Amino acid sequence: MSKEVALTETPFDKRHLCWFCEEPAGGLFTFVSPQTSAVALPVCRECKQIANTRELDSLYEYRLYVKDTLLKRYAKHLAIGSNWTREELEDSGFDCKILGGFKKSAWFMYEVARDRINARGWPLTVNGLPVEESVTDIGFEHGGLTFSSLNAAAHHFSQTQGLDEAFLCALVKILGRDRFGYALRLANLYRVASAKEKKQFLREIKEDEAQL
Ligand SMILES: [Zn+2]
Repeated sequence: MSKEVALTETPFDKRHLCWFCEEPAGGLFTFVSPQTSAVALPVCRECKQIANTRELDSLYEYRLYVKDTLLKRYAKHLAIGSNWTREELEDSGFDCKILGGFKKSAWFMYEVARDRINARGWPLTVNGLPVEESVTDIGFEHGGLTFSSLNAAAHHFSQTQGLDEAFLCALVKILGRDRFGYALRLANLYRVASAKEKKQFLREIKEDEAQL
């Protein structure tokens, strides 16, 4: 069952920008939602690579996941801005060859990382209609705990139960959020399975669900 991919519309002033971080776009990310259709949106190479490491059930979740990954990846760059002000850096006396180079590039690296984290993207539409209504549907609850996102919950339970986080996310995408507990049990069952076995299992369960 193949789904037709619809290209989302981009505001004129955001043309050629990545929907996640607003750096220049370098390709398209295709989001296949569990219920509806598949949509494609412009993204930069790095955000595309990050997003493609997960199966998530909403673009909102993808957004949080990409931002979270960027935040971890560029923690050092971002720290420059919390440890220094631009003026302090300029007056730092870092004028030797090595530190002078740091001075020149450090603030720039900080600004790039900061702007990527803060970039808000734009509302995604296809033919003028919003792609996702659940963008405001923030938070996810399981086992008496409330998380900022489904992905945050998957991260928590994977850490505490020693599970494959990406596999758990892929299961939830197929089964639906309301069956998170069931997805957890399956992830536990497949704890020691190989990547190939997991892939095979995901394929089977997807076929099963499609027949329901
Ligand atoms: Zn990006």
